[in-house]
Amino acid sequence: MSTEFFHSQEGLSRDEIASLQTERLRQTVERAKNSTFYSQRLEGIDSDALNSPEDIRLLPLTSKDDLREYYPLGFLTQPVQNMVRLHASSGTTGSPTAILYTEQDLANWADLVARCMYMVGVRPEDIFQNLSGYGLFTGGLGIHYGAERLGCLTIPAGAGNSKRQIKLLQDFRVSVVHIIPSYAMHLATVIRETGIDPADLPLRIALIGAEPHTEQIRQRIEAIYGVSAYNSYGLSEMNGPGVAFECPEQQGMHLWEDSYILEILDPETLEPVPDGEYGELVMTTLTREGMPLIRYRTKDLTRVVPGTCPCGRTHRRIERIAGRTDDMIILKGVNIYPMQVEKILMDIPEVGENYQIVLERSGYIDHMRVRVEIKDEYFVEDMRALKGLEQKIARSLREEILISPKVELVEHRSLPRNEGKAERVVDMRQAEN
Ligand code: ADP
Ligand code: ZN
Repeated sequence: MSTEFFHSQEGLSRDEIASLQTERLRQTVERAKNSTFYSQRLEGIDSDALNSPEDIRLLPLTSKDDLREYYPLGFLTQPVQNMVRLHASSGTTGSPTAILYTEQDLANWADLVARCMYMVGVRPEDIFQNLSGYGLFTGGLGIHYGAERLGCLTIPAGAGNSKRQIKLLQDFRVSVVHIIPSYAMHLATVIRETGIDPADLPLRIALIGAEPHTEQIRQRIEAIYGVSAYNSYGLSEMNGPGVAFECPEQQGMHLWEDSYILEILDPETLEPVPDGEYGELVMTTLTREGMPLIRYRTKDLTRVVPGTCPCGRTHRRIERIAGRTDDMIILKGVNIYPMQVEKILMDIPEVGENYQIVLERSGYIDHMRVRVEIKDEYFVEDMRALKGLEQKIARSLREEILISPKVELVEHRSLPRNEGKAERVVDMRQAEN
């Protein structure tokens, strides 16, 4: 199969990747030693001892707490005057952390994002609308400069204001969007309310990411808008978007191994898991100048997809993110991830766009209540039909998560929703104590 690459690095042999990684890892270690944090953490470590990417295990891990402790400038390898941009993680969990970039860092990042977009078929002729929040969140400017780098007309629409989004989509015949999946689901409803079928818009590609979502949600977005939807993964600590991205095969996301070293570790023992098994994704930047990070623990759970990809790219693929270690719900001794619930719900045709998991305590007993929006056309049915549906959902959930949740059917659009990342879990267990 002949594949057109944006960068020749996409097709490097595995040996070439390994030697490039080793060379860049050594440079990264030397550079990192110029920062306050790593000058201490890497003391006594000689980069010449690193003879393969696997030797990365000789280096210590870096955590989000380290970033917080050495906030704001303790990770910089150069004076802050050499930096040209700052982003911050959206603070989904805990206090935020700041990431600073040199001009070269920004150029490399834009290149990576452009590579991802090109891979799924975006071309300079495309009209691109970015419906992700701008500001400190990397999904705005990060994707923006990638799209401009590729040469697309780029519309920085930002998040929210659905009416204006729809007008732009129509007036400029937008062909490609970047959108958070939960917002894509919501926007479809608003589009329909204006009397338009989302599938009639001239869109052909949606880049979706920034929050965990299931294959079921991807398929719904593809059907609703008549597009191909591709999963986009990144985090501000590793630049932002552009770290790993699905190719046209849609079987996992290629993680760009010329720019990052990828490890999957058991989050308890911190040892590598056997190939193909789930664990915590740990990454090392290989080209970052201003703020290199070594063996950064992402808290995101995934696995390496075994085998080679028919698209011809040699960089290994990771599976869609199953959840964050932080998101794990422990209920009656059972570990549950919100995505397990989403997978079941979104396979049920009557279920609408949104859901919410509520954890409650009565007396000493914890319960899970799953509030599920039902599509309008089903909500008008008689009580008996709704009861039956409630039981069907409860049964399917029990099979997946092994405990019996209470299921509450609610009307379409009645659950709260954010402009940014969806908040799927409301934990009332402490509040009720
Ligand atoms: P925050 O940790 O505050 O949300 P970021 O805005 O940097 O900070 O978001 C990065 C995180 O978002 C990732 O670590 C991951 O948990 C989540 N994320 C990003 N892209 C995806 C994706 N495609 N699928 C699942 N989760 C994603
Ligand atoms: Zn591929």
